[in-house]
Amino acid sequence: MVDDRLIAGSEQLDDTSEKKIRPQELNSFIGQTQVRENLRVFVDAARGRSEAMDHVLLHGPPGLGKTTLAQIIARELKVGFRTTSGPVIVKAGDLAAILTNLQACDVLFIDEIHRLNPAVEEILYPALEDFQLDLIIGEGPAARSVRIDLQPFTLVGATTRSGLITTPLRDRFGILLHLQFYDVEDLKEIVQRSAAILRVNLLEEGAREIAKRARGTPRVAGRLLRRVRDFAAVSGIDSVDAEVADMGLKKLEVDARGLDALDRRYLACIANNYAGGPVGAETLSAALSEERDTIEEVVEPYLIQQGLLMRTPRGRVLAEGAYHHIGVSAPKNIHQLELLAQDGEGSE
Ligand code: ADP
Repeated sequence: MVDDRLIAGSEQLDDTSEKKIRPQELNSFIGQTQVRENLRVFVDAARGRSEAMDHVLLHGPPGLGKTTLAQIIARELKVGFRTTSGPVIVKAGDLAAILTNLQACDVLFIDEIHRLNPAVEEILYPALEDFQLDLIIGEGPAARSVRIDLQPFTLVGATTRSGLITTPLRDRFGILLHLQFYDVEDLKEIVQRSAAILRVNLLEEGAREIAKRARGTPRVAGRLLRRVRDFAAVSGIDSVDAEVADMGLKKLEVDARGLDALDRRYLACIANNYAGGPVGAETLSAALSEERDTIEEVVEPYLIQQGLLMRTPRGRVLAEGAYHHIGVSAPKNIHQLELLAQDGEGSE
């Protein structure tokens, strides 16, 4: 998914220097302690047994480090790494070609695995379970089925929408890991590490300011850092403190809580046009002229995590803090709305 929002978690075209700042081993991967500790155990155990590691499903919003972790897993296991993505594998034959080319114990990374074509997904099941491929060759009466043995491998699947993963696919992953948004301290460390690699003279308070506004997302933190660096360079400033960071970020319309223009437009739309909700994702997508995926995968998860929004069976409902944030007065029955929303929360 390519998205031109400055604070979008998804990948953008100018993210080439991202590669430079990608952590290469588990020890330089900052934050997500639980996930890291679990992976350390699984990686060490698989290496000890000289076997392929169990299949891993990484779930979380874009930009939190799923691709990075998949690469780290391969590097830590000292095995080969192949990468592809759900929508790219159109036919069963495409997947067969990838799978038959894997070496023993390799890591195959499938990004956006929830977007796999069902026919392709089906041939993945025996591959994951028994390292075998069942293919139909030919058509009509001449068609016959062939079974191909594969090398044992580790599939690392990544998804922003674990709800869209079918149960048979999910059941074939031995390790399910959920990535959370990062806290400011972890993001500050990530920004400082990236600044050192990019040779930006970033003072501690400057790093904190960027971290606070990075929407809990390392990819956004990296992007904001590069913009602030450009701003400082153009203004002839050689060290970035909180004030310089703040000036740079203000120009980008990122507010003190890390919300950008679309986030605020989203909140204002529910507050002003739908009396605070409930309102459905489809309606919001049409009202804002934004893709539903962007709304559900990028905008909403962070607003929910910030306690500004609730997802209920009847639609999205604003929490009280959202009104304060956009400077609109909350409806009188806000607490009632919040209680109703909390009762039904979790289900969509
Ligand atoms: P995803 O696959 O979840 O969309 P990526 O793995 O591509 O996210 O990460 C996006 C960017 O954020 C990369 O440039 C990566 O270097 C950086 N990043 C992600 N997680 C971390 C982390 N824990 N520590 C340092 N940098 C990180």
